Amino acid sequence: MRVAVIGGGVAGAELVRTALPGPLDITLIEPKKQIELQALYPEYLAGLTRIQDLAAPLAPFCERVGATFLNDRALRLEEKAVVCEHGQVEFDFAVVAAGASQNYFGIKGQEHTFSINTLEEAKRARRFVEDRNPERIMIMGSGLTGVEAACVLAESLDASIYIIEARERILPQFSPNTSALIEKALSKKGVNILTSAQVREVREDCILFADSNGTCLDCDMAIWTAGVKPSSFIEGLSLPKKKGWVLVDPFLLARDDVFAVGDCAWIEVDGRLATKTGLEAERQAKHVARNLTHLAENRALERYSVRASTDSQVALISLGCDCAVGVVGKMCIGAPTRLIYSLKSWIDKSFIRRFK
Ligand SMILES: Cc1cc2nc3c(=O)[nH]c(=O)nc-3n(C[C@H](O)[C@H](O)[C@H](O)COP(=O)(O)OP(=O)(O)OC[C@H]3O[C@@H](n4cnc5c(N)ncnc54)[C@H](O)[C@@H]3O)c2cc1C
Repeated sequence: MRVAVIGGGVAGAELVRTALPGPLDITLIEPKKQIELQALYPEYLAGLTRIQDLAAPLAPFCERVGATFLNDRALRLEEKAVVCEHGQVEFDFAVVAAGASQNYFGIKGQEHTFSINTLEEAKRARRFVEDRNPERIMIMGSGLTGVEAACVLAESLDASIYIIEARERILPQFSPNTSALIEKALSKKGVNILTSAQVREVREDCILFADSNGTCLDCDMAIWTAGVKPSSFIEGLSLPKKKGWVLVDPFLLARDDVFAVGDCAWIEVDGRLATKTGLEAERQAKHVARNLTHLAENRALERYSVRASTDSQVALISLGCDCAVGVVGKMCIGAPTRLIYSLKSWIDKSFIRRFK
């Protein structure tokens, strides 16, 4: 059974790793030569992690497990083929695992911001930190990425770090007690927190807010972490969609012969909407690997069950200084501890080692 997997990130690469060896003939399509782990970008930005610890080359990995690696970009999905920039891959089943893009929400002055959504962007941001030694860094968005970046930068640089959130508290997608705990940890590190602060425009040397006073804060470096959106590739696919994401059924199928997993998919099963996290991407990938094997062996498909949902988050949040907190639903594991940091660090680094 020929399977084309589009995207060699957390979900795509993990699917290949779990499905093989087995009855499937898999081609992994990925424009980059390596799998890159976004979870370590905040540490990379602060100079605390090396590229070799967060990336692994895909060609030798595919060769080892018996998959075909196609270093190419998928352009569109046809009836039984993925059309790429340099050719096409015919399939019996396809899996869309193409991730998400940074969402700037149409903000003015996007060109004056840095992002850490891709390794290329994280490298550009790191170079700027090294070359320019910025004294005032504004991080826009206080989700996991914004919070982790603020913590590690506060610790490793002699700079004033600000975190700017449009809503009334940081980590708004988590429970109020988690927000309060993380806010305390950020303040202890000297991070300035601005909530209910809507950015109107980013200029070369300042940030303009959308308040009635037209407040403007000086800034040497603006880092945008606020939100993701479907990529142009996902936008162009004629598959069922919800809010632009590929909509799947409880078996993670978007159409009879196409699965979708990870950040590019809208996965809502039994009223629980999956979060766009590495934890979920990895579980979904394993599930589709199993369902593909069932299909090859004429067995029934299994329903997916969401673990980390938007109304009950599961996360390990790194707070720098070798500390992290664990969140499971409304429960937030106490004071930031080194043990939880070690666990997070071990999970992230051992994930990449699987592909080496
Ligand atoms: C800075 C940062 C920190 C994070 N920290 C954490 C964390 O601590 N814990 C956690 O659980 N989650 C974390 N996340 C979220 C997590 O990284 C993502 O949820 C996860 O990577 C999603 O996996 P994915 O495979 O769907 O997408 P990705 O890992 O982004 O992979 C998508 C792949 O598809 C490829 N692709 C795109 N378009 C095409 C195309 N047209 N053709 C072929 N290939 C294509 C891309 O090149 C990419 O390699 C973090 C995210 C960021 C940005």
